Amino acid sequence: EIYGLDKWKNETPKYELNVCHLYGNLLNTYGDNGNILMLKYIGEKLGVKMNFEIVSLNDTFDEEKYDLVFFGGGQDYEQWIVSKDIQKKKEAITKFIEQDGVVLAICGGYQLLGEYYIEASGRKVEGISALPHYTLNQQDNRFIGDVEIVNEETGEHYYGFENHQGRTFLGEGEKPLGRVLTGKGNNGEDMSEGVHYKNTYGSYFHGPLLSRNSRLAYRLVTQALKNRYGVELHLPTWEEILGQEEKESAAVKDVKTKVGGN
Ligand code: GLN
Repeated sequence: EIYGLDKWKNETPKYELNVCHLYGNLLNTYGDNGNILMLKYIGEKLGVKMNFEIVSLNDTFDEEKYDLVFFGGGQDYEQWIVSKDIQKKKEAITKFIEQDGVVLAICGGYQLLGEYYIEASGRKVEGISALPHYTLNQQDNRFIGDVEIVNEETGEHYYGFENHQGRTFLGEGEKPLGRVLTGKGNNGEDMSEGVHYKNTYGSYFHGPLLSRNSRLAYRLVTQALKNRYGVELHLPTWEEILGQEEKESAAVKDVKTKVGGN
């Protein structure tokens, strides 16, 4: 049986997940909020009621409350403000990562999970050292353009767009999210892009990374479900969800043809 597909709007959802949008009102410049929409979409396909909450300045991050954390990118000014506040949440976020919580951090958020970030101006912005990477600046240059990477473990290719001045270097125990095939990635030197540690993913891919790379979105949501409800959970595969979508759009076309629309 495929659970949840196409029916839970009229029923009680089978599951529930709490998603924390970390500093969603400050680090939201590059269209990263599209990732939130994609998490909601995938969750609903799996029969999950997705609850979203912004946790920002002066709020407490409760590591026991959330199943998934999304942390977007931003400009240096906002990053500086966030870097001050996030120190108070450092312990809880680190604990969440270490206890296998699911995290997706993009660009500025990814940088702040690490040790530090050097701004274009040369000013040092403290990260929370939850992960051991660090980010240097570069002279009068940014890495801007399309990126393609391949994840060495799954063989999956991810596609995105990067726009960053920081050059990130991974630390001990950190694997990259992928090897760069096109573009600059973490630093333009070692062909790595992003990070993967436990269930935490970091990347420079902007815009809605997840809608272009839906398998990654599926992995994040299903991992969060397994963490909360147990590994034995029987969930539809991504292929089954896609198959269901094809049927749904064929049905819509059929109705439109009958009423003469397009
Ligand atoms: N301000 C950071 C940089 O330029 C992060 C940018 C971003 O999140 N796109 O590297």
